[in-house]
Order: sequence, then structure tokens, then C-alpha cells
Amino acid sequence: MPYDITLIPGDGIGPEITDATVKVLEATGLAFTWDRQLGGMAAVDATGDPLPPATLDSIRRTKLALKGPLTTPVGGGFRSVNVALRKEFQLYANVRPAKTIIPGGRFDHVDIVLVRENLEGLYIGQERWVEVDGDPHGQAESVAVVTRVGAERVIRYAFEYAIRHHRKKVTLVHKANILKYTTGLFLEIGREIAAEYADRVAFEDMIVDNCAMQLVIRPEQFDVMVTTNLFGDILSDEISGLVGGLGLAPGGNIGSDAAIFEAVHGSAPDIAGQGLANPSALLLAAAMMLEHIGEDEAGRRVRRAIIATIVADEVRTRDLGGTASTQEFGDAVARRVG
Ligand code: NAD
Repeated sequence: MPYDITLIPGDGIGPEITDATVKVLEATGLAFTWDRQLGGMAAVDATGDPLPPATLDSIRRTKLALKGPLTTPVGGGFRSVNVALRKEFQLYANVRPAKTIIPGGRFDHVDIVLVRENLEGLYIGQERWVEVDGDPHGQAESVAVVTRVGAERVIRYAFEYAIRHHRKKVTLVHKANILKYTTGLFLEIGREIAAEYADRVAFEDMIVDNCAMQLVIRPEQFDVMVTTNLFGDILSDEISGLVGGLGLAPGGNIGSDAAIFEAVHGSAPDIAGQGLANPSALLLAAAMMLEHIGEDEAGRRVRRAIIATIVADEVRTRDLGGTASTQEFGDAVARRVG
């Protein structure tokens, strides 16, 4: 049976990097049925809606999507499609692996997977103004929410991920010394769950400010990390920076009923349509997707082919100092996979 996957090429460089990625996935020898759907500006132009019902229906059916970057239309009251997808499919875990690919940089041995809680914390959008001394905007307030159910599922996912990927340690990042209720609850639940896995996965907790410094000083000490939404947002970009920036950063958004894989970077309108885009981040996201559906060997093969193409073959796109076009790079990876 072929794997049925919703494919959202998206905007800007999206169609170019998606084409390259589909070619590489086909080269694995696995069979796929691609249900191509619209999202972002491409969808606004065609239907007036950045997230058309047909796209949602497709993901409901396939439960699996590979997504190019989407341009969030500015103004016009459009909601962020990425946030809408997260909410619609309850994609509670954002998984961001970061591994050194090109040796000889500042950090040669980084291999971190950060699992960020994706639906709660300070990002639930509950904000309000409070009047102070007649000034209606004299005070601004944001509500952070951590639920037992929400914390449990994302922390458990981090431990299960560690086991599936033969990882040794989970570090839970928090600020429970100050935010005693919200991140205190997250830490308490982390300790409970860690006890269940004590014989298989080591556990430590770390306060977020120390963690931000430790990541720069000695990133090799980290393995799998799990944290709340805001801390995860910031730390995941910091970690991408350790291994060469967003051009090589994939992400998976995992829910109980669906999972969506994507590159972390945006639609790069400045280089769209010129064959300059590096498809590596979406290719690495595709490798994550293969592992997510149990095709671990094919996932490893795709990842190894990307690394060999960049490091051994020195076929690189312009952002990595090379001259290969998006298609040339994709073809070179596909040859290595096949
Ligand atoms: P961006 O990531 O698109 O671009 C930042 C810089 O990185 C640009 O100079 C771009 O040329 C370069 N770049 C990005 N990806 C590249 C690649 N694969 N190869 C080579 N160079 C690459 O960020 P931005 O310009 O702030 O955002 C552009 C649009 O993308 C915005 O509309 C934003 O809302 C959207 N966006 C979407 C997502 C998503 O769908 N997941 C994520 C971030 C931004």
C-alpha cells in the first residue's frame, strides 16, 4: 500500500524545495500517493482562503502532511495558517532536531532534539489591557496556561522519542524557581514521568537561563530536551544557530491524530523562483516523517544522503557557499538515496 500524504507546496521557494523533496522520497523505493493541496498566499490567490477546507479535509483523511513554507498574508484579518493548523489538529509537540552537518565550524558535535510544547503556555493569546490612573493601556497582562494533560502528553512524547531513537537523556527546561505554578507543574509532571522511565532514560532538569548559557558553552551535554512553549520557541532557534542556522533546520508538529512536517525557515520571497533555495531543511523534515511512520531505514538513508552530498560530494547551494541549484542539489541527493 502506498503512503497517502498531503503535500502542501506553499509559497515562495516552497514549490521548488517541495519538488526536490518529492524526487528524493520517490528515490527511496517506497510508494507514495501525494494529495497536493493549497495553503498560504497560493491558496488566497486561488480560493480567497489561506487555509481552504479541502486542505483540512485532506489532512483529516491522510493524518500526515509535508508542508512547504507559507507566507502569512499581512493585514486583511488573515490568521496565521501555521497556528491554525496547530490548533485544528492539536499538534501538541513541536520537534526540532539540530545536528552538526558541516564539520569544522564552531560546534562539531551538536546532536540535540528539542521537544517544545506547542499549544499552551504564554502563547494561548489571552492578553488584556488594564486601566491604571485613567490610562486604559497603563498595564498589559498575559495569561500562561499549563495543564496536567498538556504537560503529560508532551513530556511523555519526549521520553518515547528518546527510547525510539536510542537516546540517553531527557533534559526538562523550566523556570520553576520563579514561575512556581505553571512551569512548577511542568517540572513536577516531568519528575513523575521520568520515574517511569528511570531504568531506560536519564533525566535532569535545568533552569532556562542557565540552559541558554550551557547551550552556547557546552552544547554536547544535551540530548533530548523538553520545555514549555515560549522557552521552546527561543531555545529551538538558539539551537539551530549552533549548527548553521535555519537553512538546515527541520521541524515536526506532532498530534495524536495528525502530524505535519516542515522546514523551519519561511518562504524566502527574495530568492523565490530562481533555483537558489536550499531544500535541505525540507529534506531533513521528510526524513523525520519517514521515521515517524516507521520507515526508519529509509529515513536514515535520506539523512545520510543529504550529509554525504553536502560534506563528501561538496555539492552545495549558494547559502552554503556552493553553486548548485535547488534541482541539482535535489538530484544529487536522490542519486545517493537510490
Ligand atoms: P525566511 O526564512 O523566509 O527568510 C530569511 C532569509 O533566509 C532570507 O534571506 C532567505 O532568502 C533565506 N532563506 C530561507 N530559507 C532558505 C533556503 N531554504 N535556502 C536558502 N536561503 C533561505 O524568513 P522571512 O523573510 O522572515 O519570512 C518570509 C515569509 O515566510 C513571511 O511571510 C513569513 O510569515 C513566512 N514564514 C513561514 C514559515 C512557515 O510556513 N513555517 C516560517 C517562517 C516564516
